[in-house]
Amino acid sequence: MTASAFEPTPRESCLSIPCLPSCSNPSAFRAKLFRFTHFRKNASANHLVSRTFKTKDLKPFRFTHFQKSGRGRGASISQCKAAFPVCYSSAVVARSVAHCYDTPIMLALPHSQMLLATLRKQEKEMVKILGALVRLESPSFVKAAVDRCGERVAAEWHKRGARIEFLRQKHRGNHLRVTLGPTGRRAKGQLLILGHLDTVYDIGTLQRMPFRIAKGRAWGPGAFDMKAGIVQALFAAEALERTRTPLGKRVVCLWTSDEEIGSGSSREDIEREARRSDAVFVLEPAFGLRGSLKTSRKGVGQVEIEIIGRAAHAGLEPQKGVNAVHELALQISRVAGFNDFRRGITVNADIIEGGTRANVIADRARAVIDIRAARIADMKWLERRLRSLRPILPGARLRVTGGFNRPPLERKMSAALYRKAQLLADEMGFPIGESPAGGGSDGNLTAAAGVPTLDGLGAVGDGAHSPAEHALIRAMPERAALLAALLATT
Ligand SMILES: [Zn+2]
Repeated sequence: MTASAFEPTPRESCLSIPCLPSCSNPSAFRAKLFRFTHFRKNASANHLVSRTFKTKDLKPFRFTHFQKSGRGRGASISQCKAAFPVCYSSAVVARSVAHCYDTPIMLALPHSQMLLATLRKQEKEMVKILGALVRLESPSFVKAAVDRCGERVAAEWHKRGARIEFLRQKHRGNHLRVTLGPTGRRAKGQLLILGHLDTVYDIGTLQRMPFRIAKGRAWGPGAFDMKAGIVQALFAAEALERTRTPLGKRVVCLWTSDEEIGSGSSREDIEREARRSDAVFVLEPAFGLRGSLKTSRKGVGQVEIEIIGRAAHAGLEPQKGVNAVHELALQISRVAGFNDFRRGITVNADIIEGGTRANVIADRARAVIDIRAARIADMKWLERRLRSLRPILPGARLRVTGGFNRPPLERKMSAALYRKAQLLADEMGFPIGESPAGGGSDGNLTAAAGVPTLDGLGAVGDGAHSPAEHALIRAMPERAALLAALLATT
């Protein structure tokens, strides 16, 4: 609410918004100042306009407004002031402003704090559903178990009026596609929510680490990575419904079954759905207990270097042999030289094997190497360097296979969405930060497809993939409100 002594005459007010009907009750005609900002209509550069004002019905009221054609670059271009009389309802003012300024997108939003207040009341219900999902163990490799978890998630979405579709898989769990919001031509684009149903825990883990609530946290296998994220999305959708917040775009959620094992069966679906979308929100866990969003992720891959030498007696005729282990050692010291921490490039030989007996010159050796890069250019550079390795010892042969399987998520793909999230979190009164992540997620795939992607929007907590895995309960409504507000304003 803009506190201002600005008190124009009724005439001036009506001039500010010429299509407002004339007011019949002059005593109620106290004008309030209302400012809004123009922004470029470009999904990745859109900024939230967070202007709040009060109207006759005294509900806090907000406009989101984007400039019709791109003039200037990116952020704020100009600020307009308009005054309106409090004797009109918020709906009348909303319609009038929309009409006057010919805005292509005009959402009359309840305040994001209303979303948060709605969600806070549902904290208990959220934890209850989280408990149900955690108790449905869903290790990536056990199709029937992942399917059971997927069916429960589908049932919850169905209750909330979403459209459900299973993408059936033969060997992995079925992926679940959930659609909400406007359909067909009424949708002004698409937003994608990404998450996974599978966990890294085998069936039976629950006996050692049962679902439990303690110290304001929900503990259990997969609670943090990322079943709490699924629950938050469910309740974000419900809160939009409860507050009658309209969605301008169709929202598609893709709950996949194999993220923890590299997304082999879901990759195509993820990339196809991403290409149809204006933005992607990934509900992987946040970074750290402060809930930082993951605005960049390294690309991740694996290569195998295989050396073929020649066996010979190590004592009788060593000159006839070509030692594959020696060759591998030389190659490893060469690739270790590709490390560049400052640029975010890491190369680590983490598995080596070779040879058969101590007195036989080794004719085979291999190394499995973990490779990571923060930038796409560096990923390509590293792959080129690895492919151009040549044998060092005379007579040795060398083969390099593999490469990056998830390209880097570069910060430029998340910067605009992050700024928007920050504004919204600010408005709701909780801090939000950002952090780079060394590991990959399905967000890497969508960013590489050229779609703005914001990752780490899921649960706040700690201990992913460990017996201490837990999600912070207090943060669940906050994160759900943040997602809801992002869906309504992107
Ligand atoms: Zn995960």
